[in-house]
Amino acid sequence: MIVDMRRNRERMIREQLEARGITDPRVLSAMRKIPRHLYVQEALRLQAYEDHPLPIGYGQTISQPYIVAYMSEQLETAPGMSVLEIGTGSGYQATVLAEMGLDVYSVERLRELHFATQKLLRELKYYHIRLKLDDGTMGWPEMGPFDRIIVTAGGPTIPEPLVHQLADPGMLLIPVGKNKRMQQLVRIRKQDGDVTLERLCGVQFVDLVGTHGW
Ligand code: SAH
Repeated sequence: MIVDMRRNRERMIREQLEARGITDPRVLSAMRKIPRHLYVQEALRLQAYEDHPLPIGYGQTISQPYIVAYMSEQLETAPGMSVLEIGTGSGYQATVLAEMGLDVYSVERLRELHFATQKLLRELKYYHIRLKLDDGTMGWPEMGPFDRIIVTAGGPTIPEPLVHQLADPGMLLIPVGKNKRMQQLVRIRKQDGDVTLERLCGVQFVDLVGTHGW
């Protein structure tokens, strides 16, 4: 069983990530190491390394491996940076960022997911990933500013508190769009007081629900 999962994971790295142009060694080694199958429900473990998102309960999903890798790469991080994630969900993306050497803070609005993920991350000994149960569209003001912010749910607009809590220089990645089925992945850079916006690609995320979300 353990051997099979390793093999599935290696195949995922080769066929879904490297073959599609993911080259960041920190992203690849993090995703090669993390047991993604432990972040999904037991009945879905054999599908954990397939090329699509999977349900994690409460109407939410763990993102497709390629999307996790792509966003982690596009975040242009260096070890030691602080990163705020909005939408902890399964905790997989947060773990990838932690394995990349980042100081990770992650906010989830659903109580059940927050506590289930807190338990899992403790079992896996990721004690240094800090989790909070709250509306992440308000950010985590006491812990900011953050070098990087990554939002893994899609909202209608860019939450102002997140731009405010971004360090200078800093970068924010967020799926945005008025259409709930299809968003644009947007990258916002803060540099010398200027804020610029760049559209990366079309994506499909679950709803960002909150004061500055749906
Ligand atoms: N990064 C996650 C993806 C989870 S799906 C992973 O690796 O598994 C997106 C998550 O965002 C869901 O769990 C959803 O409940 C959460 N979410 C939606 N709106 C939110 C908000 N305002 N604040 C925090 N979390 C939110």
